Amino acid sequence: AQRIAEQLQLQSAALELERRRVADVFAQAPSFLAVLRGPENVFELVNTAYEGIIGHGRNVIGKPLFEALPETNGQGFDLMLAKVRTTGEPLVFRDLRVMLERTPGAQLEERFLDVTYFPLVEADGTHDAVIAHGTDVTEQVHTRQALSTAEATALDSAAQLRAFADAMPTLAWTARADGHVDWFNAQWYAYTGTTPEDVEGWAWHSVHDPAVLPGVLERWTASIQSGEAFEMTFPLRAADGTFHMFLTRGVAVRDAAGTVVRWVGTSTNVESEQRLRRAAEEANRAKSEFLAVMSHELRTPLNAIDGYAELMELGIRGPLTAEQRHDLARIRKSEKHLLGLINGVLNYAQVEAGATHYDIESVELEEVLATCEALTAPQMRGRELTFKRQPCARGVTVRADREKLQQVILNVLSNAIKFTNRGGEISLSGTVQREHAGELVRVMMTDTGIGIPDTYLARIFEPFVQVNSELTRTREGTGLGLAISRDLARAMGGDLTVASIVGAGSTFTLTLLAE
Ligand code: ADP
Repeated sequence: AQRIAEQLQLQSAALELERRRVADVFAQAPSFLAVLRGPENVFELVNTAYEGIIGHGRNVIGKPLFEALPETNGQGFDLMLAKVRTTGEPLVFRDLRVMLERTPGAQLEERFLDVTYFPLVEADGTHDAVIAHGTDVTEQVHTRQALSTAEATALDSAAQLRAFADAMPTLAWTARADGHVDWFNAQWYAYTGTTPEDVEGWAWHSVHDPAVLPGVLERWTASIQSGEAFEMTFPLRAADGTFHMFLTRGVAVRDAAGTVVRWVGTSTNVESEQRLRRAAEEANRAKSEFLAVMSHELRTPLNAIDGYAELMELGIRGPLTAEQRHDLARIRKSEKHLLGLINGVLNYAQVEAGATHYDIESVELEEVLATCEALTAPQMRGRELTFKRQPCARGVTVRADREKLQQVILNVLSNAIKFTNRGGEISLSGTVQREHAGELVRVMMTDTGIGIPDTYLARIFEPFVQVNSELTRTREGTGLGLAISRDLARAMGGDLTVASIVGAGSTFTLTLLAE
């Protein structure tokens, strides 16, 4: 009896151990488990994983489902549990959506569960309780949802881009990273009269001029190897067999790591644009040439007029009356004026035609400003103008053609003299300024003259433009001085700009590169 009792004790200890192990496993299981009993679905058992899902340490044991988790009322769980209880058949759900109040008072949270409900069969064969067993798959569902929206968006934008490319009047194409062209837009097929089979991959060779193709291939393979953008103008054969010039550009599409994943490109017909540009250049060249030839030809007879007038003035053709002498002086004055105008036109034509030669050197600014002051002093005095010049810092040098620089400053100063009434003031100064592009030198020429209306400010730098007013009509000129001056300034890497207030005066600023 003693042995039997010992054995029984041992057995029950082993059973107790087994029971605890089962309870432990039940509690620690990564999947959730719950046992709900009776028509009210009273919680009989739940494990830690289940408590984690329902949140905030809710004690549900002994309570009916809708009392323990009131927010689940109306979500259909009572119907599912009842079905399992009555049929004795298990139910399996994937991604079953449940809304839970996981934090008290907060908004309901959405969770997704993979869950199996199966009947708990008692020893007597009845099944009054249901076991709910499963895993929380919320994270997986969210990831899947995010992926599919991303995919949908990607698809959507790819479709949009292709539609966009098809709508363009330009030819467009895409290629794989290795240069294999895998798509052309509708315009490409329309222009070349080809089909995808004719041109995909590297078969687009067929629409190229064989004489130019090697150069194209060389550049394209260089781009594929380096990843640098491709840009080239070459002829492409149209459906009717004629060739037309296209500007082709291709750029690499890179992934986050910077690796080329694709190429996208366009080919634009530039023939009409090229033709127009050539025609415009040709017309402009013809105009400059005409002006240069004309002004040159006009100077020869003018010299003769001056020469013969001088002969007469000197009395070589016989004695002159006072009236005749007076008339001859007028002839010679007009001749000088006309010669000035013609020289202006010739000068402009030369600058325009790019025929002007520049001797760019390092020029000491102070020297040039002093020379300009000396050369304009008589005119200034003649019009009783005050001239102020701030001496510019020693050693300030600019990159310029000395004569051209002087020509620009003299031209602006003589305008200032022309358009400033007696007693006015003209000032000249040079300053150095550090700009992001390097050092710039500014020469400022300010007058207290009649000023320039806003509407003319930009236009006075165009050839033959003069401000049309009562005030200026009496002052002579061709309207070429500023056009020439700005062209010269720009050709030396600088610029000429103006600011002005009508009635108060104008400031012309000449910028130059510091040496
Ligand atoms: P031109 O002096 O031979 O007429 P410019 O090209 O030198 O030609 O100047 C164009 C016009 O700009 C001038 O006719 C004049 O109307 C205006 N202008 C130039 N400089 C000044 C100035 N300092 N003050 C007022 N108007 C000016």
